[in-house]
Amino acid sequence: MRSIFWFRRDLRLADNPALLAAIDAGDELVPVFILDPSLIGKSGSKRLAYLGQSLRALDESLGNKLHVMVGDQVEVLKDLMKRYDASEVHISEEFEPYGLARDARVEASGIKLIRTGSPYAVSPGRVRKPSDNTPYKVYTPFYRAWLVHGWRGPVAAPKNIKAVTPQVGDRNFPDWPLPEGVSLTPAGERAAHARWKKFKDGALANYDEERNNAGVDGTSKLSAHLKWGEIHPRTLLAELNQTKAHDVFRKEIAWREFYADVLHNNPHTESDYYAPRFKEMRYEEPGKAFTAWCEGKTGYPFVDAAMRQLVQEGWMHNRTRMVVASFLVKDLHLEWQLGADFFMEHLVDFDVASNAHGWQWTAGCGTDASPYYRVFNPIEQGKRFDVEGKYIRKYVPELAHLSDSEIHEPWNYLDGYLHNYPERIVDHAVERLESLARLQEIKEDKPLPPEN
Ligand SMILES: Cc1cc2nc3c(=O)[nH]c(=O)nc-3n(C[C@H](O)[C@H](O)[C@H](O)COP(=O)(O)OP(=O)(O)OC[C@H]3O[C@@H](n4cnc5c(N)ncnc54)[C@H](O)[C@@H]3O)c2cc1C
Repeated sequence: MRSIFWFRRDLRLADNPALLAAIDAGDELVPVFILDPSLIGKSGSKRLAYLGQSLRALDESLGNKLHVMVGDQVEVLKDLMKRYDASEVHISEEFEPYGLARDARVEASGIKLIRTGSPYAVSPGRVRKPSDNTPYKVYTPFYRAWLVHGWRGPVAAPKNIKAVTPQVGDRNFPDWPLPEGVSLTPAGERAAHARWKKFKDGALANYDEERNNAGVDGTSKLSAHLKWGEIHPRTLLAELNQTKAHDVFRKEIAWREFYADVLHNNPHTESDYYAPRFKEMRYEEPGKAFTAWCEGKTGYPFVDAAMRQLVQEGWMHNRTRMVVASFLVKDLHLEWQLGADFFMEHLVDFDVASNAHGWQWTAGCGTDASPYYRVFNPIEQGKRFDVEGKYIRKYVPELAHLSDSEIHEPWNYLDGYLHNYPERIVDHAVERLESLARLQEIKEDKPLPPEN
């Protein structure tokens, strides 16, 4: 008796109930990862390089028994089932539109898929309002209900995996090199646990205070590990206590679960507006300003530092993700999908739900429950969340000669442009008003916001 375990967003052995189910179901396991041409086409070189490393790490932990196949999932799985005489395919369940449709298609072809668990502590669709059994639209009540719902504890890694030896032609590991000048966080389950340990023993204690400071290594940087399932959120949640810092961290994990739930219940919001009237807003066509944003050459130091971090590291700090997103939509008047697509290309941790809804939240057309339309001030945000200018200095060397207070506003200093830093492409004060005027045109009923 053989069963197949189809790895997708769960590239780990520990705390993987679906893997345990596959092991229990047969005498021997056929572990497989299928390279999906349509997802590969949408992934930038950094995410692919990371995935390549993660697959190698997984293969090592499986004693070099991972099958890596290329092609249509139905054809690949049918072929493996035939050649290895396997009757069942085990998976952890996926909920985003693409994964859901893919699995339905595989099942419709007659392949028996057995689902156990998911990449979430609480699977999307489970947390619903007790009053009328509808999904939550606002984060805070979702969070409370999510806590009440609760989740299972982590399960141990299998003690012994009897995996079949791959036949010739079944080990098609991709050759995706790391692009030049790029540095990525190390991939794989072991790296994920090492990072979690480092964070847990260090920065987690001050997470509530430091998580917004862009120049400080104050967040977990587990997002890519979570995206690829090298560690499960349940593993993290199980080790949190009731202190304020731990509570804030738990709330961030819950944002990931909330957005997965929102996307599951509103699949069109992957690329369409959650609040439909924002579709009617006046937007600009992408042109030079968009290119400057992508290249980190807007002339706003905090924005440019962030965009350069994204391109160099495939990761960006959460605070600056919000600042650059606000800048694209509210200073440049471009549609959020343009920025979301750029993020999709460059982020190693790209997650369709967190990305689409992180963008929509910032653009003002998403699930934000605040009573006003936020417009982030890119200068004040820098002064507040990069007080010493460390973050800017690291990614924008043209400004490194300026002092901590000067670095946020080079235009005020004679030597501000000494090293060819670009001038501002727009005036934030003017564009903020323009953004609010465009908002009035779609009959926004919220009061005008304070500057933040
Ligand atoms: C415009 C925009 C786009 C984003 N795109 C993505 C994306 O594609 N993939 C992604 O994983 N996150 C995305 N986020 C959320 C957030 O910025 C990242 O999860 C976070 O910066 C990752 O760093 P970290 O692991 O150090 O986070 P930590 O602060 O250590 O948080 C721990 C974990 O909680 C989750 N988390 C934290 N904040 C959020 C949040 N606001 N929304 C959802 N989950 C959160 C992540 O899984 C994260 O790894 C986006 C946010 C914005 C504003």
